[in-house]
Amino acid sequence: MINEISPSIFNNAYKSIKEISDFDYLLCYNENRILLKKTDNSYRIPEIKDFDGNIQKNNLIYLFSLNSTNCFLIEDCPPHDDSFAYNEVFNFRTFPEKEVSWIGAMGYQMMVWYSNHKFCGKCGALIEIKNDERALFCVRCNSIIYPKIPPAVIVAITCKDKLLLSKGRNFKGDFYALIAGYVDIGESLEEAVAREVKEEIGIEVRNLKYYKSQPWPFSGSLMVGYFAEADDTQPLKINRAEIAEAGWFQRGKLPKHASTISIAGDMIEAFEKGTL
Ligand SMILES: [Zn+2]
Repeated sequence: MINEISPSIFNNAYKSIKEISDFDYLLCYNENRILLKKTDNSYRIPEIKDFDGNIQKNNLIYLFSLNSTNCFLIEDCPPHDDSFAYNEVFNFRTFPEKEVSWIGAMGYQMMVWYSNHKFCGKCGALIEIKNDERALFCVRCNSIIYPKIPPAVIVAITCKDKLLLSKGRNFKGDFYALIAGYVDIGESLEEAVAREVKEEIGIEVRNLKYYKSQPWPFSGSLMVGYFAEADDTQPLKINRAEIAEAGWFQRGKLPKHASTISIAGDMIEAFEKGTL
């Protein structure tokens, strides 16, 4: 999965950084695109020194570290030459360098959070960045704002050697995945699974088993994966507003599906290999 970068280490602990090194990473974005440094046959995250001193270091926001290297966000991309290029962050789903993908995608989540929180939601005053923790604060009403991470459930529904796969109406790619949706107010994760399955394909599931979770920076959510069983004689009532196609597929004959960069692909592979 995209967040699995071992043996490299992603450290999300907040640090108050006094010194910025020439070798620290700089993450800058233009809407959904990230600025990367070209290499002979790929791209890497740019370092501070790549910008030849064109950076105002007091404009940098500390994000996290990769191994021993600190990663900073800058809201306005510094001047750069054509040895750099913008890349769509969604391309990280198929990018070969796993550390670049994870750091670039996580920085994107943080950039979206900072850019969506310029003003206090309570009193409307300009927000400032707190320098002792990953938070924003309002000097007028003292509100402190932390990143909010919406939980979403994703469920692999099985019936003996068959798996239920679906294509969402808003999918960017032409492949099958799993039923998924955000947890709503007042419900448990398990209740969210039952409701989403009922709403999207109209069937009942049983024997829910937690599998694993995955942070998904493209939507800023936390995906919580479950396996569940269902009787395949139940008629599918597909909610066409959300689902383009859905059906049962036999192990060994699964159609093109989500890659293991996502928990959806990881769960489909686990079913296919029978390693549950
Ligand atoms: Zn306020």
